[in-house]
Amino acid sequence: NVSVVLFTSDLRLHDHPPLRAALDGARQVVPLFVRDRAVESAGFAAPNRLAFLADCLRDLDAGLRERGGRLIVRSGDLVAEVCRTAAEADADEVHIAADVSAYAQRREERLRHALEAEGVRLHVHGTVTTAVDPGALAPASSDHFAVFTPYFRHWSRERLRDTLGAPRTVPVPEGVGSQEPPTRKGLSGLSPRLATGGETAGRERLTAWLRSGLAAYEDRHDDLAGDATSRLSPHLHFGTLSPVELVHRARAAGGPGAEAFVRQVAWRDFHRQVLAARPDAASADYRTKHDRWRTERTAGDDIEAWATGRTGYPVVDAAMRQLREEGWMHNRGRLLTASFLAKTLYVDWRIGARHFLELLVDGDMANNQLNWQWMAGTGTDSRPNRVLNPVTQAKRYDPQGVYVRRWVPELADMPGPAVHEPWKLRELDRTALDYPPPIVELADGLARFKRARGRD
Ligand code: FAD
Repeated sequence: NVSVVLFTSDLRLHDHPPLRAALDGARQVVPLFVRDRAVESAGFAAPNRLAFLADCLRDLDAGLRERGGRLIVRSGDLVAEVCRTAAEADADEVHIAADVSAYAQRREERLRHALEAEGVRLHVHGTVTTAVDPGALAPASSDHFAVFTPYFRHWSRERLRDTLGAPRTVPVPEGVGSQEPPTRKGLSGLSPRLATGGETAGRERLTAWLRSGLAAYEDRHDDLAGDATSRLSPHLHFGTLSPVELVHRARAAGGPGAEAFVRQVAWRDFHRQVLAARPDAASADYRTKHDRWRTERTAGDDIEAWATGRTGYPVVDAAMRQLREEGWMHNRGRLLTASFLAKTLYVDWRIGARHFLELLVDGDMANNQLNWQWMAGTGTDSRPNRVLNPVTQAKRYDPQGVYVRRWVPELADMPGPAVHEPWKLRELDRTALDYPPPIVELADGLARFKRARGRD
């Protein structure tokens, strides 16, 4: 008998429960990836992520070929393509990882019905894209946790399943039609310093990180210039790394760095369990509704200045330019640029979230939308009216101004922390810089925020 393994956000061979189950139960397997027309036409397929995805698929194909198999790639309507492939291979089972977005949940239902009509069984596997499954933990009064701290207490006590090794051989039947895996060629608008995708690159980064980054993580994770976080987020997003394996290996390394790191990985599970229970939270305010936001119509110039890194606040501009250049941004940068847009400029968080999704290589429905809501004060933050002051933040997390000078060359000649406040330069020196004055006074932004929230 033959089983199909449908890869989605789990583009790896190590620690892959659906692949393991398929290999245990069948003589041959069809490792399938469908380039889903619905995802691509919904505008979610940003060039940076398509490029990373292409790397992932090529690497997955190479890994399968080393094991005697190959990756079958199709494109079109996902459900129709899975059914067609199952029929071609005469498969009686399809294995897939569980996923959380509204789209993924609908897709799973459609797939189940379509396959059942053909007499093919669908197996949905947990703990593939999360360490702990959404829904596995819940407080007495609800179907999910809305606050991280109690969630994390329960999460930490969960016993994770053991890590699975990669299979030695993957026997794939002959004669199943496939396209070539995509390449980066022909993609335009890519960030010039985009990371390389694929399980091989992900595993190398993980090993290097455990060896030389993890121990100092607790002390250094907020240091903007130090760039001392793992940068594993795109690998977790595309599933080239398993969160279960990641947690086991970090815990095995031990120490305060590992503890702090594992806590961040738990944030990822936390947001996923929120989105699984409340799929509408991708676009609707989660806990507190606000509707007086400024929008493209009323704040077009401010939004443009923010998106292009020309707000006149150097640390905000540095972070926004890092995003464009690398397709990735430091977490501290994400926090302070999101606060600046949603609170200082009082622009609808959905506009900022959309811009992030156009560029982030790790752009993720759960993590992006819910972190935006957290910063906008509509989500799970217990201090929804806190506003991050970009100057204070800059002095604390980029004390020597190294990060700002790295990304804002117009200010490269300003020494030390003075770079965070170019408006303090003498008029003559200031106008000599090709750098804008602040688009808003922080005090005015704060006053507007308080007025809006007072009336909301
Ligand atoms: P590390 O610090 O090394 O952390 C390890 C892993 O933990 C990360 O790879 C990530 O999977 C997880 N993690 C860390 N912080 C968070 C967090 N706050 N919430 C959830 N998971 C976390 N992360 C995304 O993966 N995709 C997004 O689209 C995304 N959008 C964001 C938008 C905003 C406004 C904010 C404030 C944060 C966003 N994050 C997002 C969370 C976080 O900024 C990134 O996960 C992190 O910067 C990735 O870098 P890293 O892998 O080096 O993280």
